[in-house]
Amino acid sequence: MLRKSALSLCLIICCLSGAFAFQDDQVTLLRKLTGASPIAEGITLKERYEQKSREYAAEYLQKQLAEFCTETSLSNYSETGINVIGTLEATQQTDEWIVLGAHYDSVKDCPGANDNATGTALVYEVAKYLSQLKERSVNVYIIFFDEEERGLIGSRAFAKMLKEEEVNIVSAHTIDQMGWDEDGDLGIELEMPTKELEDFYRKVAKDHGFDFPIHRTNVTSTDHRAFRELGFDAIGITEEYKNKDTTPHYHRSTDTFETVNLDYLKSTTDYVKKVFEALVSH
Ligand SMILES: [Zn+2]
Repeated sequence: MLRKSALSLCLIICCLSGAFAFQDDQVTLLRKLTGASPIAEGITLKERYEQKSREYAAEYLQKQLAEFCTETSLSNYSETGINVIGTLEATQQTDEWIVLGAHYDSVKDCPGANDNATGTALVYEVAKYLSQLKERSVNVYIIFFDEEERGLIGSRAFAKMLKEEEVNIVSAHTIDQMGWDEDGDLGIELEMPTKELEDFYRKVAKDHGFDFPIHRTNVTSTDHRAFRELGFDAIGITEEYKNKDTTPHYHRSTDTFETVNLDYLKSTTDYVKKVFEALVSH
């Protein structure tokens, strides 16, 4: 009895001290997007495919970004598509922007936990971290793309808008599938980075002691492609396909919250935080 209450007290103190605070918000977001808990009163998502489900997801995501972004908006770029956009303004005068994004839609009948609530949760957590930095030398677009699964429609709409408005984009970084690590090596892949971006990512890993495998690949089948097509420097970050260490639940009804490796998601989130901290500190 005594031991039990001592343990409870310890747990309460640990929670209060913020020891676990970092991933709490990220996991909450992941749970809500994947239907592990309700996203709004009386609403639990089974997928993020149908129009109504994506609307609930988009509204929820905008609300989360509004807590720390300079500005947020929902961009209805078509009859069906809704991109969620947040901005983190630089703390000094500059016209330079970096894009950090992930698609939040899923395929039909799929909770889309690994693909791509994990990428969405990573982007959210990195954005929150950036918002707390005292100084940022570059503006950052935080963006949750819609309709990636229907052919990169949301990311193409956003990239087109940037091009038309002649926004000075330094680089675009998109995250897709960040929750599977069966071999436990915490390895990641960098998809089609420019040489400069690849070197930058590797240097940050070295500087901060992230010693997991980092593979370079030529995979083009997700959102970073939309930016490259319009001439922007771009990079994709994803889990390790190289050693077949990717989710067996891909685009299936079994791609649920329970299958996500939260330690792996945290490892990569910590790494991308450091990459972005370095990007906005030059
Ligand atoms: Zn995806």
